[in-house]
Amino acid sequence: MSSYPVPSCAVPVCAGMMIAVPLELASSPLKSGRDLGDADRSALVVGGTERIRTGGAVVFCKVVAVAKAQVKRDGQVRAKGSPVHHATLGPLEDRPGTGVIGGIAGRAPLGARFVKGQRERLLARAFMIRVIVLMTLMPAARPGDVIAALAGDLALVPWARPWRPASGRAAGDWRNALGPVPLEELRDLVLGSAWREHRDQGCPGAVTIGTRRPLKAGSLDGTLLRVPDTPANRAFFGTVGTGDDSGPYPCLRALPLTCCSCRALFAMPHGPAVIHGFRS
Ligand SMILES: [Zn+2]
Repeated sequence: MSSYPVPSCAVPVCAGMMIAVPLELASSPLKSGRDLGDADRSALVVGGTERIRTGGAVVFCKVVAVAKAQVKRDGQVRAKGSPVHHATLGPLEDRPGTGVIGGIAGRAPLGARFVKGQRERLLARAFMIRVIVLMTLMPAARPGDVIAALAGDLALVPWARPWRPASGRAAGDWRNALGPVPLEELRDLVLGSAWREHRDQGCPGAVTIGTRRPLKAGSLDGTLLRVPDTPANRAFFGTVGTGDDSGPYPCLRALPLTCCSCRALFAMPHGPAVIHGFRS
């Protein structure tokens, strides 16, 4: 027996529950069906709603994902796909657009030694690029926590195939499989757009030197970043502060080039802190 049309029958509702609304029923409650504009502060409503009165109890839901439905025989409504196909870094992707990371991910070959195709569902390439970017903003968090943070409310959706954050080990395999190239491409894109913005419209506070051929002044300052203390990192990056390379942490040496005025980062060449066999 079909459960449709679903009769109105109030069920207990609490925060964190998911309500699935057919896309075509998401409607504007404004008079004559006018679409909600930026100036309107209204929730959408479900088409067919008889009337909402001031003082009536209303469930306010946030849209987490628009996905294809999967309906079980007993009527359970689930979502096809997985959080990895929907999660974004939110405002961080507003300027480049969410398609940028997708495009980089599409070009990124995966090292077959580390991941097999069928695990695409748990950790897709674009998702993993976002995880690596988010890791830099949550340096103390474990990979599983970063993945859970990126999924956010998407983890609450009843996916057709249950989703859980991938393990730290799986995340490490994906990071190895992606390699540095997609992240370098993303870095060049972000830094390149800061550079072009300064070249095109300029920067209101930019410091220029010279009159005949004015040059914009940038600021350069070397910096050392600790990297995890593994034998491989020690061999590649070296340590500083001691004559015999026995410093507490291997370090990466970086040279950020920024705008003197607004501190926008234009470039950051980096490499080992110590060139082995080349000591002053
Ligand atoms: Zn600037």
